[in-house]
Amino acid sequence: MNGRPVLIVEDDEAIATGLAMNLRLEGFLPEVADDGEQGEARWLAGEWALVLLDIGLPKKNGLEVLREVRERGNVTPVIVLSAREGEYDKVAALRLGADDYVTKPFALAELIARVVAVLRRTDPKPSSGAGKSNVPVVRFSDVVVNPGTRTVHKGGELVKLTHLEFELLWFFWANPLQVYSREELLKRVWGVTHGGSKRTVDNFVAQLRQKLEDDAEAPRHFLTVRGSGYRFEP
Ligand code: CA
Repeated sequence: MNGRPVLIVEDDEAIATGLAMNLRLEGFLPEVADDGEQGEARWLAGEWALVLLDIGLPKKNGLEVLREVRERGNVTPVIVLSAREGEYDKVAALRLGADDYVTKPFALAELIARVVAVLRRTDPKPSSGAGKSNVPVVRFSDVVVNPGTRTVHKGGELVKLTHLEFELLWFFWANPLQVYSREELLKRVWGVTHGGSKRTVDNFVAQLRQKLEDDAEAPRHFLTVRGSGYRFEP
């Protein structure tokens, strides 16, 4: 993780300073922006490995920043930090393309572990099928997935997936017909071994259904196994 630039958009100086110090100790190059407008400007102006984004920010809130940045096609991984307990914020953040979500107060060690986990997933991985250019495209129904370019088309139309949605899709594809619990998926796809929210998995599966199923209410590929978890049927 040496020398990787991380943008911290956080108006609480104590939190921002603590995060920056701990990230620096881990070998990252953190920079802090302390309001939404400045955060968005610096996000778009730089090549960041990751952005840590507070929701409650002066001038422009974090959800607005995230939406505007994603609308411009910027896919930098982002972990949303929020003091709000509201499920709405969490779902909204994930829908807008956040890769993970942490509720304040959080333990710095846990946050750093999540940063490392997100970066591990978003870096090109030689051991994983995803990201390799020599892996052929795969198909199910009218969905075509190209792991080399990480692009997905449905019925010939490009479907935009967030980094983690693609990772989850690829995990399902690589492990068809097997039932995975939410805990197992959090561990295998998110790299979260404890403390992860099972709702995160539900939200991501809902997004994949919305984007890739003909009828998200009657899925044929991303199936719920009652009491157990999820199963992918190609
Ligand atoms: Ca704040």
